[in-house]
Amino acid sequence: AAPLKVCIVGSGNWGSAIAKIIGNNVKKLKKFAPTVKMWVFEETVGGRKLTDIINQDHENVKYLPGHKLPASVVAVPDLLEASRDADLLVFALPQQFIHRVCEDMAGRVPRKARGISLIKGIGEGAQGLRLISDIIREKVGIDVSVLMGANIANEVAQGDFCESTIGSKVKANGLLFKELLQTPDFRITVVEDADTVELCGALKNVVAVGAGLSDGLGFGNNTKAAVMRLGLMEMAAFARVFCKGPVSPATFLESCGVGDLITTCYGGRNHRVAEAFAKTGKTIEELERELLNGQKLQGPPTSAQAYHLLQQRGLVDQFPLLTAVYRVCYEGQPARELFSRLRDHPQHK
Ligand code: NAD
Ligand code: 13P
Repeated sequence: AAPLKVCIVGSGNWGSAIAKIIGNNVKKLKKFAPTVKMWVFEETVGGRKLTDIINQDHENVKYLPGHKLPASVVAVPDLLEASRDADLLVFALPQQFIHRVCEDMAGRVPRKARGISLIKGIGEGAQGLRLISDIIREKVGIDVSVLMGANIANEVAQGDFCESTIGSKVKANGLLFKELLQTPDFRITVVEDADTVELCGALKNVVAVGAGLSDGLGFGNNTKAAVMRLGLMEMAAFARVFCKGPVSPATFLESCGVGDLITTCYGGRNHRVAEAFAKTGKTIEELERELLNGQKLQGPPTSAQAYHLLQQRGLVDQFPLLTAVYRVCYEGQPARELFSRLRDHPQHK
């Protein structure tokens, strides 16, 4: 069989870290074509095009500085040129841009292509939950697996040992992506409970905002542990309400569940910005611009999507943490309001 051509859609902090893994793996595995195209949203950095910098210097100096990318990864500024002949599509861009990207790709990638989403977020849906993978499936017309886990991009790029979870509705596709993505230091488990895996990845970012508020207000470890545990309970309850298929409790014990919750609540961007928010009183948007140099937060927009879904079902009171994070981020409620709400948590009734 012809080697499978891989395209990475996105080139931010995580997109670039995963490009390093994929670029090295395709050199060793004959099953995959030796060149990997990476779609780069073009911008000028220090007077040069980012695609030129990546192709000449092999480093994404804006989003993953300090880590060389293998020469097998080629930056392409045109989305359709990058994805037109792909067999495997790896989606790694902030949720904010997925609609536009899928609309541009609709009808223009091979129908036999298979996708995997690394995007942690929830899409918009008038009729209830719409996952990011649903948007890709519907608009691009391909099967989509997901990869979620305790994977802070800079640490993965550094090669530190870690784990991740692939969720796939078509098991063979999940196993194929495992071959593409696993390394001795990036260990992957494949499960079939894909929607739960994806919801874990999305919702833990909202919990991380709560953990950042807790730290920013000066509370200690016990308080943060309570935020994380109540957050986990709300993640599981949310999945049980909104997932169409069965939700396995074991999925929350995978890297995409407790693993990611721990790493993000200590070392993630959502945590960092929320901590600064509680300390400074600046807006989330201001802090995102000041602290993240073009990287995007996923927790606040996900809290808004989750809040709207809960509102539609009349379930806001059952999810005090998810709801309070939304109100603090978007409705001007003080950070302390989170803890007033947690005192009435259904877990303690
Ligand atoms: P990022 O936060 O670094 O975002 C910046 C990217 O957005 C850049 O590639 C930029 O070119 C792109 N961009 C800006 N404007 C755009 C536009 N108009 N259209 C298209 N693209 C545009 O991105 P990331 O860290 O790679 O995150 C992508 C996804 O992966 C997110 O859902 C995130 O939650 C998830 N994720 C991130 C990490 C991490 O540690 N960074 C780890 C695991 C999962
Ligand atoms: P942040 O976006 O909060 O940095 O989280 C990164 C992540 O998803 C780690 O698994």
